[in-house]
Amino acid sequence: MTGGRVDAIAIDGPASSGKSTLAQEVARRLGYVFLDTGALYRAVALALLSSGVTRFSEEDPAVVRILSALDISVTPGASGARISLGGLDVTHHLRGEEVGALASRISAWPSVRKALFDLQRRLALAGRIVMDGRDIGTVILPEARLKIFLVADPEVRARRRLKDLESKGDRRPLETVLADILDRDRRDRERPLSPLVQAPDALLLDTTRLSIDEAVTWIIDHYR
Ligand code: C5P
Repeated sequence: MTGGRVDAIAIDGPASSGKSTLAQEVARRLGYVFLDTGALYRAVALALLSSGVTRFSEEDPAVVRILSALDISVTPGASGARISLGGLDVTHHLRGEEVGALASRISAWPSVRKALFDLQRRLALAGRIVMDGRDIGTVILPEARLKIFLVADPEVRARRRLKDLESKGDRRPLETVLADILDRDRRDRERPLSPLVQAPDALLLDTTRLSIDEAVTWIIDHYR
C-alpha cells in the first residue's frame, strides 16, 4: 500500500478488448498475481448449468437456493487463478461458449454481484495483483494504484475472438461474433449495478493498433 493506494493494477474494458492477455503478461513481468474476474462470473454460470436448472431467472427459488449455497474458492497464481466450486477445481470448464453466454446474463443480477464482491475485494486488498474485469477500478478496488480502461474497435475485437474460437475448432461467421460482442457490451454497459464504465481516474488505452508487447510496456511504464 502506498499513500492510501493499493499496489495493484485494475484493467477494465469490454469483451475481447485484450484485458486478460495484457493483465497476465503485466503480472508476469511485475512478479504479481493475476486474476481474471470474468472467471468468477463464469463459475457461477457453471454452477447453475450443472445444477439441472433450466429457467435462469434471479427470482426462481431453485436459482436462489444455488446462489445462496455457492462455494467458490480462488487460488491466485502468476499464470492465473485456479477456481474451485464446492472444492472441485473447475478452471478448465469455464471457457466454453454456453458458460460465457450465461455469465454475461447473470452478471447483471445484483445477487450474483453481491455474492462475488467480498471474495474479489479480499484478493484485491492483498495487493501485488493485476485484476481484470468490468468494475475493478470503479467498484472492487477504487484504490488501485493504476487503473486502465481498455478499448478497441469492435470489428478488431470480433476478429480477435474469431481467431480464439478457431483455435478451439469453432468456426463462425464474423457478423455473428460481432453481434454477440455488441450484445455483451450493451448488457455490461446498461446494467444498473456496477455497469461497465471508465473510472474518472482511469487511463484510457486503445489497443486497436497496438501489439501485445506495446500495450504491456505502456501499462508497466505508467505503473512505474
Ligand atoms: O471476461 P469474461 O467474458 O470472461 O466475463 C464473463 C462475463 O462476466 C462477461 O460477459 C461480463 O458480463 C461479466 N463480468 C462482469 N464483471 C467483471 C467480470 C466479468 O460483469 N468484473
